[in-house]
Amino acid sequence: MSGEPQRRFVSSRGAAAQLGFGAALQQGLASDGGLYVPQTWPRLTPAEFADTQTLPEVAARLIGAFIGDDPLAAQLPALAREVFNFPAPLVPLREDGRLSVLQLFHGPTAAFKDFGARFLAACFARLRAGESRPLTILVATSGDTGGAVAAAFHRRPGFRVVVLFPRGLVSPTQERQLTCWGDNVRSLAVRGRFDDCQRLVKEAFLEPQLRSELSLSSANSINLGRLLPQAAYYAATSLAVWRKHGEPASFIIPSGNLGNALACLWARTAGLPIGAVVLAHNANRTVPDFLETGEWRPRASVATLASAMDVGDPSNMERLRALYPQLEGLRAAVSAVSVSDQDIRARISAGYRDYGQIWCPHTAVAVEAWERLPQQARATHRWVLVSTAHPAKFAQIVEPQIGAAVPVPPALAELFSRPVHHDEIDPGLEALRPLLREG
Ligand SMILES: *Cc1c(COP(=O)(O)O)cnc(C)c1O
Repeated sequence: MSGEPQRRFVSSRGAAAQLGFGAALQQGLASDGGLYVPQTWPRLTPAEFADTQTLPEVAARLIGAFIGDDPLAAQLPALAREVFNFPAPLVPLREDGRLSVLQLFHGPTAAFKDFGARFLAACFARLRAGESRPLTILVATSGDTGGAVAAAFHRRPGFRVVVLFPRGLVSPTQERQLTCWGDNVRSLAVRGRFDDCQRLVKEAFLEPQLRSELSLSSANSINLGRLLPQAAYYAATSLAVWRKHGEPASFIIPSGNLGNALACLWARTAGLPIGAVVLAHNANRTVPDFLETGEWRPRASVATLASAMDVGDPSNMERLRALYPQLEGLRAAVSAVSVSDQDIRARISAGYRDYGQIWCPHTAVAVEAWERLPQQARATHRWVLVSTAHPAKFAQIVEPQIGAAVPVPPALAELFSRPVHHDEIDPGLEALRPLLREG
């Protein structure tokens, strides 16, 4: 694509080399510890998407604008068709078209993490074509990420996945999704907490001998290869609303590490017709507190019903600050709310009663955020509630609230029927090392 400009990604901390997309994706974290952000922004308009209809077409156009003349650019249309092979439907909740739900849970593991994990895997497969040494993807997970990454790399030649999760601290459904793969996926229950799993991954990366013996990579949520594909569904949704109503779409996004929200803000910055963006947090209120007080006080996470959002020190905050360095600018760009477990429960019940909808606890946080908007804002925007997971993944929480069984979608039923296996390890590198060396 010789007509495309060169586009580079720079570290949010400003002290690492700028890289093209493929290199930044393989690198993960920048060498100065920062996160990769675009050096310059695409300037798109809805007109430039006039000939795109499907999600893969919109994705290829949007991501193409972000990556410019990167070697992967020529493969984007095929890559997007491979990755975005399930729908992201926008379901209206009210007849006036001012409230809809964007369902992001129709992928193989029934949560939006499938979009990013599948795109990352598809990029890696192309970037590493012809490499003889297999790449080991190490992933620490507290819930949905590990399953999505395992699904995306399962049976892909040239890759193996080692998933580390805290023993007994993920939901039974999540544990099934982490341990049902086999083949090139190995699941390890760590006798510790999520922080121990994350520390183990970092230690493995820092050990020179392991690094020289193995090709290691991570797949955590700060990777550009997970963030950019998430911008695609915001682009496709906002274009659909724009075409139908001639108005921008405003999004309410259940948020933890802020990856999903950042993808939306990047799409808006690139010129997509996106209006307001609301960050809907659970009782982990680091971000809402920051917007209110201007003081950044990261803290330990507290456990909530919306567990995939239990984050007290969101890693993508660095990208948010890079986008809006001044507090006033940030306050103009986004708003944030915090929702208690009690309100999550009440919202799940009310959703079933009032709309006949079954919401997962994360989605319920977004719905509650909408309910708290001023009447004026609700009446003048076209709101899209982002639904991040299928309620069947959280049946133990949801079913008592609605007094009914949650139907299990076919993809999840298939996963639930597979045999499970995992090994248990102590939270130290001595325990992990031999398992990593095994083929
Ligand atoms: C990961 C996750 C979130 C939070 O997304 P972030 O990108 O970390 O803000 C919300 N809901 C579900 C179901 C998730 O799996």
